[in-house]
Amino acid sequence: MGTSAQTVLGMVEGGSLGFTLPHEHLVFDGTSIFAEPSISSEKCMAHAPLGLDILSWLRYHPYENLDNVRMLDEDEATAELLRFLKAGGSTVVDVTIPGIGRDPEALCRISRMTGVNIVMGTGLYTEPSLTQRQRDMTVDEMASLFINEIRVGVGTSGIRAGIIGEIGCNWPVAPTEVKAVHAAAMAQQETGASISLHPGRNSEAPFELAETLKNAGADLSRVLFCHTDARLRDPFDRMRLADMGCVLEYDLWGWEGHFPSYWTSDDYMDLPNDTDRIYEVMSLMEQGYGRQVVISHDICVRSRRVCWGGWGYMHIPTYVVPMMRKRGMTEEQVRQLTVETPRKLLSFL
Ligand SMILES: [Zn+2]
Repeated sequence: MGTSAQTVLGMVEGGSLGFTLPHEHLVFDGTSIFAEPSISSEKCMAHAPLGLDILSWLRYHPYENLDNVRMLDEDEATAELLRFLKAGGSTVVDVTIPGIGRDPEALCRISRMTGVNIVMGTGLYTEPSLTQRQRDMTVDEMASLFINEIRVGVGTSGIRAGIIGEIGCNWPVAPTEVKAVHAAAMAQQETGASISLHPGRNSEAPFELAETLKNAGADLSRVLFCHTDARLRDPFDRMRLADMGCVLEYDLWGWEGHFPSYWTSDDYMDLPNDTDRIYEVMSLMEQGYGRQVVISHDICVRSRRVCWGGWGYMHIPTYVVPMMRKRGMTEEQVRQLTVETPRKLLSFL
C-alpha cells in the first residue's frame, strides 16, 4: 500500500493529512432524499425557506424541507469549513457522489479558499437517486468509471477521486446497488483505494454487504461501514463486524437523538447521543478494535451547520475530543481515531 493520498488538488503525503473527518458533504443536492411531510398541516413546511421559524420543526424533520437538504451554497460551505480549520482540522473526505450532487470544481475552489485538504469520492448512490442510464450500467462499466475517476479524473476535469463511496445501498439492497458494490470491490482491487459504504436501515445490512464484498474479493480492512452508530445498536453486532476486519465509522456525532421516528412509514432507527458514542468507541478500544474505528459528522442538511444553529464541521475537534479526554481516552487513542486510521485508509498511491 502506498503512502500518498489523493486530494482534489493532487497527491499529498499521508503524513500531512493531519486531523481528518472521513465522512462529510460540502456541496450536496439531497433532492432524492427529500420526503414530502406525511401530515397535511405540515406539507407547507416542505417548500418554506430555511429560517428561524422552521428550525425547531426541522430537528425532527430534517429531510422534509427542500431548502434544508440542498446544500448548494459554496460560500456557506467555505465559511463552515474554515471553522473546522480554526479548530485544528486539516482534511475532509467529501463522499458526495453522483445521485447526491457531486461538484468536483466547487470542491477544488473550497479547498483553495480554506487550505483544507479535500478528498473526493467516486461511485454511485442509492438506486432511486440515479438516472435510468446509470441504473442500466453493467458492473464492468461501473468499475471502469470508478477506476477512471481515481486514475484520470471526473470527465475531462482532471480532478481525481481518492476514495470509492459513499456507495449508497437501501434495504433490501436494490439490483443497481448490488452492481455498484461489486464494481466497488473491483475498483478497490485495481487501485487500492478504500471503500466507504452506506448500508440500508437494517442491522443485517452491513453483514450482507460485507459478505458480498468479501466474495467479490474486496479487502475488508479497507472498507468503512458508514453510520455504524445508527445501524448497529447491539454491541455484539459491532464486534461481529469488526471481527470480519471491517472499519466501523461512527459518523453521526452531534445528532443527539433528534430524529424522525416516522422518517419512512415502516422504518425508523434509534440514535445514541455523543456520550453514548464515546463510551461505545472506548469499549471497542478496550476490546482491541481501536484501529478499526473512525469518526465524522456526515453533515448533509444545512440545519446542522453553525450558521443555521447546528454544530458544524468543527464539532468533533471543538467539543467531542475534549469530552473524550475527560472520560479517559489517551492522546494516543485520540490520534489513532482522528489522524492515524484515516491516514492509513486514505493512503494508497
Ligand atoms: Zn453521507
